[in-house]
Amino acid sequence: MNPDKSPFDLSGRVALVTGGNGGIGRAIALGLARAGAAVAVLARDVEKNQQVLAELKSIGVPALVSQLDVTDRAALAPAIDLVTCKLGAIKILVNNAGVAVLSGGVLNESVETWDTTVETNLNSCFQLSQIVAKAMVSRKSGGKIINLASMYSIFGSGLVPSYSASKGAVVQLTKSMAIELAPHNIQVNAIAPGWIETGMTKDVRDSPMNALIVSRTPANRWGRPDELAGAAVFLASSASDFITGTTLPVDGGYSIF
Ligand code: NDP
Repeated sequence: MNPDKSPFDLSGRVALVTGGNGGIGRAIALGLARAGAAVAVLARDVEKNQQVLAELKSIGVPALVSQLDVTDRAALAPAIDLVTCKLGAIKILVNNAGVAVLSGGVLNESVETWDTTVETNLNSCFQLSQIVAKAMVSRKSGGKIINLASMYSIFGSGLVPSYSASKGAVVQLTKSMAIELAPHNIQVNAIAPGWIETGMTKDVRDSPMNALIVSRTPANRWGRPDELAGAAVFLASSASDFITGTTLPVDGGYSIF
């Protein structure tokens, strides 16, 4: 660690944020950029990708967006190659892309919903982490992997079983990768957001669940996407070099109540 720099300084580092064109991912991408990182965003929606590219460029860091569906397994390695080629070796990977389908429970959920959710939230996290970690290990550069968990990593859900199962597995994958990669100076941690105002949760905010969520959250409100940025910068920075395998709740106290 350079004593002349803030331990949260990310200048000179390349970060990749999947699903970084909206909601929490966008807030994390902008937060990492404001801390000095060059940022690549990979997501499906071309228009939203261009919007976040403009925001990243206005911060003044090198930036790249590219269309990627993280469920397209064959496209993952070429996408990583593109980022590496254009911005440099990836030092920070944020596995943020995620979907939640309110299926109503195991009795209602289709196999297609199950497969898409697990493929998006869990399988892509494994595969992208594997590709990026192999490069970090061979470069002997160290690095940071940050996975998006959830309150449903801890609690069960009668409404979104595939989401809960996938996010529970993300925490266990985080711990397993942390153990294996620690000797290579790669720290792997997760962030578990509480209830955050994004497109994913709009229907919930518009439903009777809204009042229950607010009253069940000690902070007595929903979180904002930008409130995730600080945790991501911390876990991406040298400030967290001796922290690995943990899941950091950013939840207004939801998980302790
Ligand atoms: P949003 O729906 O607002 O954003 C999801 C992002 O993921 C979008 O940018 C979307 O971009 C991208 N995405 C979805 N599917 C794919 C795919 N197949 N390939 C590539 N990108 C994809 O959700 P949030 O911001 O709320 O969620 C971000 C993460 O935080 C998720 O992992 C979610 O599970 C987690 N989380 C959110 C909570 C909340 O309360 N909001 C609580 C706990 C966890 P595009 O459509 O362009 O591909």
